[in-house]
Amino acid sequence: MPITAFYDNTLTLHCARCGGTQDVPLDLLVVGILREATVEPLTIALPPCPACNGQEFLFHPQEYAHPHPGSYGHLHRLLVIALYDRLVALGKVQDGVTTLPPLDPAVLADWFPEGLVLPMSTGEEAG
Ligand SMILES: [Zn+2]
Repeated sequence: MPITAFYDNTLTLHCARCGGTQDVPLDLLVVGILREATVEPLTIALPPCPACNGQEFLFHPQEYAHPHPGSYGHLHRLLVIALYDRLVALGKVQDGVTTLPPLDPAVLADWFPEGLVLPMSTGEEAG
Protein backbone atom coordinates (compact mmCIF):
# COMPACT_ATOMS: atom_id res chain seq x y z
CA MET A 1 0.00 0.00 0.00
CA PRO A 2 2.12 2.88 -1.20
CA ILE A 3 2.21 6.19 0.58
CA THR A 4 1.05 8.99 -1.66
CA ALA A 5 1.39 11.84 0.84
CA PHE A 6 2.80 12.42 4.28
CA TYR A 7 1.55 15.45 6.16
CA ASP A 8 2.39 16.42 9.74
CA ASN A 9 0.18 13.89 11.47
CA THR A 10 -1.44 11.99 8.63
CA LEU A 11 -0.47 9.62 5.86
CA THR A 12 -2.41 9.21 2.67
CA LEU A 13 -2.22 5.63 1.43
CA HIS A 14 -3.15 4.16 -1.92
CA CYS A 15 -4.40 0.59 -1.70
CA ALA A 16 -2.56 -1.65 -4.15
CA ARG A 17 -5.42 -4.18 -4.05
CA CYS A 18 -8.53 -2.09 -4.72
CA GLY A 19 -7.11 1.27 -5.74
CA GLY A 20 -8.83 3.11 -2.92
CA THR A 21 -7.18 5.73 -0.79
CA GLN A 22 -7.34 6.27 2.95
CA ASP A 23 -5.96 8.84 5.36
CA VAL A 24 -4.28 7.29 8.38
CA PRO A 25 -3.36 9.24 11.52
CA LEU A 26 0.18 8.56 12.72
CA ASP A 27 -1.32 7.66 16.11
CA LEU A 28 -2.32 4.28 14.66
CA LEU A 29 1.19 3.34 13.57
CA VAL A 30 4.21 1.91 15.35
CA VAL A 31 7.69 0.81 14.27
CA GLY A 32 8.15 -2.95 14.54
CA ILE A 33 5.64 -5.76 14.66
CA LEU A 34 5.42 -8.74 16.96
CA ARG A 35 5.28 -12.16 15.37
CA GLU A 36 4.93 -14.84 17.99
CA ALA A 37 8.02 -14.41 20.20
CA THR A 38 10.06 -12.26 17.85
CA VAL A 39 10.00 -8.63 16.75
CA GLU A 40 10.40 -7.55 13.14
CA PRO A 41 12.12 -4.24 13.73
CA LEU A 42 11.97 -2.79 10.21
CA THR A 43 8.26 -3.34 9.61
CA ILE A 44 5.42 -0.86 10.00
CA ALA A 45 1.97 -2.45 9.87
CA LEU A 46 -0.68 -0.35 8.14
CA PRO A 47 -4.32 -0.47 9.20
CA PRO A 48 -6.55 -2.55 6.93
CA CYS A 49 -8.00 -0.81 3.90
CA PRO A 50 -11.55 0.32 4.78
CA ALA A 51 -12.79 -0.63 1.32
CA CYS A 52 -11.33 -4.10 0.75
CA ASN A 53 -9.88 -4.96 4.18
CA GLY A 54 -6.46 -5.58 2.61
CA GLN A 55 -3.61 -5.43 5.09
CA GLU A 56 -0.22 -4.20 3.99
CA PHE A 57 3.14 -3.38 5.50
CA LEU A 58 5.93 -0.91 4.93
CA PHE A 59 9.57 -1.89 5.36
CA HIS A 60 12.49 0.35 6.20
CA PRO A 61 14.96 -0.48 3.39
CA GLN A 62 18.09 -0.06 5.58
CA GLU A 63 19.65 1.42 2.45
CA TYR A 64 19.37 5.16 1.92
CA ALA A 65 20.75 5.32 -1.59
CA HIS A 66 18.84 4.05 -4.64
CA PRO A 67 20.05 2.89 -8.07
CA HIS A 68 17.64 5.27 -9.83
CA PRO A 69 17.64 8.61 -7.99
CA GLY A 70 14.47 10.57 -8.56
CA SER A 71 12.47 7.51 -9.66
CA TYR A 72 9.14 6.63 -8.10
CA GLY A 73 10.82 3.79 -6.20
CA HIS A 74 13.45 6.14 -4.80
CA LEU A 75 10.97 8.79 -3.72
CA HIS A 76 8.66 6.22 -2.14
CA ARG A 77 11.64 4.78 -0.26
CA LEU A 78 12.38 8.26 1.11
CA LEU A 79 8.78 8.61 2.31
CA VAL A 80 8.95 5.27 4.09
CA ILE A 81 12.17 6.32 5.82
CA ALA A 82 10.65 9.70 6.70
CA LEU A 83 7.67 7.94 8.26
CA TYR A 84 9.92 5.57 10.18
CA ASP A 85 12.03 8.47 11.45
CA ARG A 86 8.92 10.41 12.53
CA LEU A 87 7.52 7.45 14.45
CA VAL A 88 10.88 6.93 16.16
CA ALA A 89 11.02 10.63 17.07
CA LEU A 90 7.55 10.31 18.58
CA GLY A 91 8.63 7.28 20.60
CA LYS A 92 6.19 5.04 18.75
CA VAL A 93 8.46 1.99 18.74
CA GLN A 94 7.66 -1.58 19.73
CA ASP A 95 9.57 -2.93 22.72
CA GLY A 96 12.77 -4.68 21.70
CA VAL A 97 13.34 -2.69 18.50
CA THR A 98 16.76 -1.14 17.95
CA THR A 99 16.15 1.82 15.68
CA LEU A 100 18.21 2.97 12.71
CA PRO A 101 19.79 6.41 12.36
CA PRO A 102 17.54 8.99 10.73
CA LEU A 103 17.79 10.26 7.19
CA ASP A 104 19.41 13.67 6.79
CA PRO A 105 16.46 16.10 6.58
CA ALA A 106 18.31 18.00 3.85
CA VAL A 107 17.90 14.96 1.57
CA LEU A 108 14.13 15.08 1.98
CA ALA A 109 14.09 18.82 1.41
CA ASP A 110 16.09 18.37 -1.80
CA TRP A 111 13.80 15.73 -3.27
CA PHE A 112 10.51 17.11 -1.93
CA PRO A 113 10.83 20.88 -2.06
CA GLU A 114 7.05 21.31 -2.05
CA GLY A 115 6.11 18.78 0.62
CA LEU A 116 6.03 15.01 0.97
CA VAL A 117 3.63 14.18 -1.83
CA LEU A 118 4.10 11.55 -4.54
CA PRO A 119 2.18 10.96 -7.74
CA MET A 120 0.40 7.60 -7.96
CA SER A 121 2.58 4.72 -9.05
CA THR A 122 2.96 4.32 -12.77
CA GLY A 123 3.25 0.58 -12.33
CA GLU A 124 6.89 0.57 -11.36
CA GLU A 125 7.56 -1.49 -8.29
CA ALA A 126 7.82 0.59 -5.13
CA GLY A 127 10.64 -0.01 -2.77
ZN1 LIG B 1 -8.32 -1.68 -0.61
